[in-house]
Amino acid sequence: MKKTLFEDARSRLRNVMEYAKLPEDALTYLDHPKLLLTVNIPVRMDDGSLKVFTGYRVQYNDIRGPTKGGVRFHPDVCVDEVTSLAFWMTVKCAVVNLPFGGAKGGVEVDPKALSRLELERLSRGYIRAIADIIGPKRDIPAPDMYTNETIMGWMANEYYEIRREQLPGVITGKPVYLGGSKGRTAATGRGALDVLRRYITREGLLPAELTVAVQGFGNAGYHFARLAREEGFRIVALSDSKGGLFSIEGLDPEKIMARRSQYKELREMLYDDVSICEEAEHTVISNEELLELEVDILVLAAMENQITAANAESVKAGMILEIANGPVDSEGDALLEAQGITVIPDVLANAGGVTVSYFEWVQNRAGYYWEEEEINEKLLRIMDTEADNIFDLAEEKGISLRDAAYLVGISRLSGAIRDKGVKEYFQQI
Ligand code: NAD
Repeated sequence: MKKTLFEDARSRLRNVMEYAKLPEDALTYLDHPKLLLTVNIPVRMDDGSLKVFTGYRVQYNDIRGPTKGGVRFHPDVCVDEVTSLAFWMTVKCAVVNLPFGGAKGGVEVDPKALSRLELERLSRGYIRAIADIIGPKRDIPAPDMYTNETIMGWMANEYYEIRREQLPGVITGKPVYLGGSKGRTAATGRGALDVLRRYITREGLLPAELTVAVQGFGNAGYHFARLAREEGFRIVALSDSKGGLFSIEGLDPEKIMARRSQYKELREMLYDDVSICEEAEHTVISNEELLELEVDILVLAAMENQITAANAESVKAGMILEIANGPVDSEGDALLEAQGITVIPDVLANAGGVTVSYFEWVQNRAGYYWEEEEINEKLLRIMDTEADNIFDLAEEKGISLRDAAYLVGISRLSGAIRDKGVKEYFQQI
């Protein structure tokens, strides 16, 4: 029987146990989410009818601090997906050494089918439904797929109304005018580019020599592609949910995004319903074709389970950078490794977003705000340190970058679990 997404995610824990002697209690703790909440959210639609949407919030583990994790609006959201994403958040926050545990939330909805006001009612309804278990010292939501800063602003505002006080540290990824942090929007792409730069420099490669294909042209994928092009990488392919574009001379992500934004503003839309495939001047390809392109770097910035046993052997890229969460499953991983394709794992590569979310939370709680230059500098310092740590460890132990990243994260988590008292400690009494 095929493993669920969560079973597959959790199996990575056991791999790590082969390389380090960690207390068994750590594994026992980390095998289970701490809290799973399912809510049904009634929403009054514009035509007067009532619809009920199902949502979730999973707090996976809070041993290292309040839990942190985004909220996804997508028709395929389910408890298995949200639990897996909360597990990855737990590992990720430990990988970059932030004082947070991991959580995630989501609502089963096609957000593009809702009007702006329906979306606002749903966002506020979701916060009313989970208000008892979130808070700046407890659990802090943020954006994820198909949620953005506007939605975070509504959600934070709803929470203030419930609590009757301004508590901006309850949600990150807010608009800058509402207590958001400068640099948050581009942080995931910027962090991922930093990790990639660090890696290719060690390999003696230069950006100008390398071609890149990017799957996913949303917040994470767009900013990565834009910054990577500025740095000299040749972006030969880009895609969104409807398909992709290819140009061997290179694409200009900023130009493509500017045209989409113009259209969006014109229609006062919160989401794009124009696909990048409508850019007439380039060759249109499918998402499947993009994954199989002969490029130096394949960047996965859309969804989980994009490379599996079904297509891993068709991947021709030299290396993969995982910006999405869980885009390669464990079977896909093994096949890529057998082909000698390096994977820079999600729990390191996409940690720039949660790192700047952490800065936002710190600024909100201090009531003192930093300039973008300072934020980017602090972000790069963390990403550089942790990337080097992981690259060194992988080399030293002869293991994959994913196993090395998990080893770093799980060691920090199990250190906290050990210091709370494990079996050996209680046996001494
Ligand atoms: P987004 O909603 O801004 O964009 C998602 C993009 O993916 C869109 O361009 C959409 O068209 C595209 N897409 C959806 N399904 C696709 C498919 N099957 N094939 C190709 N493209 C597809 O979302 P985002 O915030 O950029 O998140 C993307 C991924 O990055 C998610 O896995 C998310 O969990 C992860 N991530 C995001 C952040 C962040 O700060 N935004 C941080 C860490 C991880």
